[in-house]
Amino acid sequence: MRRPEDLSFSERIYVTEVIRGLLVTGGRFWRNLFLHIAHAFGLAKRTSASVTIQYPEQYLSYGPDYRGSHRLTLKDDDSVRCTACFLCATACPARCINIEAGEHPDNTVEKFPLRYEIDTLRCIYCGMCVEACPCDAIRMDTSVHPRVAGYSRADFIEDKSVLMDRSRVMRDQGEGKLMEQMIDSYKRAKPGEAIADS
Ligand code: SF4
Ligand code: SF4
Repeated sequence: MRRPEDLSFSERIYVTEVIRGLLVTGGRFWRNLFLHIAHAFGLAKRTSASVTIQYPEQYLSYGPDYRGSHRLTLKDDDSVRCTACFLCATACPARCINIEAGEHPDNTVEKFPLRYEIDTLRCIYCGMCVEACPCDAIRMDTSVHPRVAGYSRADFIEDKSVLMDRSRVMRDQGEGKLMEQMIDSYKRAKPGEAIADS
């Protein structure tokens, strides 16, 4: 990294650098505008212009290492696999996992989460919770997309039922269905109205 005393005079007064930046931005703008107009008339089709992806209606395919949003995995009997051990909440650097543990009616199961919530506005999607879990009870899969629309903090708090439903949808209807649901909830989002969980 260059130290301030290594900068030339023109770099130190910033003006030339600002002009250089504007030239790059302006050059890109006019190039793209020209190409998009040319494409509309069937010209210069071989030269691609930059486009903005209208996410979430349009989206690029995600690589297998993309870390999506959370889901709570299920046992064979469809109940939550989580044992409310709090290791994920302890490992979470953003302190955004809230768990309330309860005694399970089945004596062979020590505890289960009465309440399990993730405040996704605080989450930094680091995956530490997944790493910390000793029983593969929480996952972040490529196909699970974070919610993109909401009008209150409550819209972005994902509770146990939302997190478990994702696993059910994935199991019963396939990974693509979760993306469809997220897009659907985005389209239905209206200011001042509660948003149905995806
Ligand atoms: S991904 Fe990171 S920040 Fe988000 S809930 Fe898990 S541990 Fe916390
Ligand atoms: S998700 Fe895993 S780490 Fe977190 S409380 Fe449940 S069992 Fe423990």
